Amino acid sequence: MREVRIRDTLSGELRALDAGSDVGIYACGPTVYSRIHIGNARPFVVFSLFARFLRSEGYRPKLVVNVTDINDKIYVAARAAGKPSAEFVAEMKDLYFEDTDRLGVGRPDSEPLASETVDGIVSLIEELVESGHAYESGGDVYFRVRSFDPYGKLSNRRPEDMDQGEDAGSASLKEERLDFALWKAHKPDEDSSWDSPWGPGRPAWHIECSVMAEQELGATFAIHGGGSDLVFPHHENEIAQSESAGRPFARIWMHNGMIETSDAKMSKSEGNIFQLSEALDRYGREAVVAYLISGHYRQPLAFGGEQMEEAVARVERLRNFFRDKALGAPGEGSPDKSRGVSGDPSPGARAGAGARLAAFKDALADDFNTPRALAEVFELVGEANRGEVDGGEAAQAVAEMLELVGLGTLTQPDQGAEADHDARQLMEEREEARAAKDFARADELRDRLAELGWTVRDSADGPQLVPRESR
Ligand SMILES: [Zn+2]
Repeated sequence: MREVRIRDTLSGELRALDAGSDVGIYACGPTVYSRIHIGNARPFVVFSLFARFLRSEGYRPKLVVNVTDINDKIYVAARAAGKPSAEFVAEMKDLYFEDTDRLGVGRPDSEPLASETVDGIVSLIEELVESGHAYESGGDVYFRVRSFDPYGKLSNRRPEDMDQGEDAGSASLKEERLDFALWKAHKPDEDSSWDSPWGPGRPAWHIECSVMAEQELGATFAIHGGGSDLVFPHHENEIAQSESAGRPFARIWMHNGMIETSDAKMSKSEGNIFQLSEALDRYGREAVVAYLISGHYRQPLAFGGEQMEEAVARVERLRNFFRDKALGAPGEGSPDKSRGVSGDPSPGARAGAGARLAAFKDALADDFNTPRALAEVFELVGEANRGEVDGGEAAQAVAEMLELVGLGTLTQPDQGAEADHDARQLMEEREEARAAKDFARADELRDRLAELGWTVRDSADGPQLVPRESR
């Protein structure tokens, strides 16, 4: 079992996970007021694959990703859609599950809903009111920030630089500008509400996560994660609520950087692929996952058509590696240049694949460094293609690496896809046209194949039909 270390946002230090105990991970999920975008997919993929890696190393992770289904943004979006908010949010929640299912990285161990946690939320707010950390005002309840000394420790901000981002209407109800809402009184234009000691209303966002995290993982747990945009105010406020109620809360704060788009550079058609379902339709699931882990999770990641095409090229290189294996060259069982006459791989070659695999896992154990891990994958693929390591062993090691980062399907590049008779016929005609140097005819046949969903790939064993975009 490797020691797994994560850079903690709160202390700024690398912190080792406790191998003996359960590793509770709470990662903030989306507010389901619209179809999710690629930025929401990043934490989903990062934390899912991180939990997968921990499991493979013998840790006992429990990944919790909540769904925020009570929020003022939902009322606004439901009104715009002309639907009751309950119906609207149910639809958006289903689409969120559908879109994230398509990422193919599995589901979190638990996905609590804010709407099913309201009793616990009301209890924690009551506790905070009783202990003087919160106060009721006009049917709302606010957290008294000055009552919690360490406030600001996560985001390192001075109180005068802090803006809770709450609506102007609440300003007159607050004792201090810095206070933030725990409970909001029912408003006439909101079509749902829950009972509370302060009258009908709904929970505010930050308190939902404090309670869902504790209900799923206990008062203290290993890792709290989410996007770096949540450090302030969301996570700062979660700490204030939970710790002032005597819960030690998360031991490590793990934040992913933002997906960055350049509006000026992005064309109108590229704007659509910012929506996860569109990106999946256009580039396929493997390219989307490969893109999302192409940078270190803590760093911002540039997004656009160019980056996605690069990801497509990388996954295609991996598919081709396994296509060549399937053809037996230079894969298992076939002689390759690195072997002697006997066909036995040299001991040095054996160490090559094993050492790459170990380095791959070491990179993931070191603050989940996926780009460094992926570099090991491509180094090994290159070594295998050049016959510097045993092909069969390399294929096995690469397959294990890809499985760990959610790309295991690339080892079966064309599963379920079999060229029908028409496509094979067209390919043969194209080869004849090419042999006769009738390139116009060859191009025409290539286009017809593309319409049928196929592309011709030239391999050492002659032309091969592969699905045009493997999905
Ligand atoms: Zn949250």
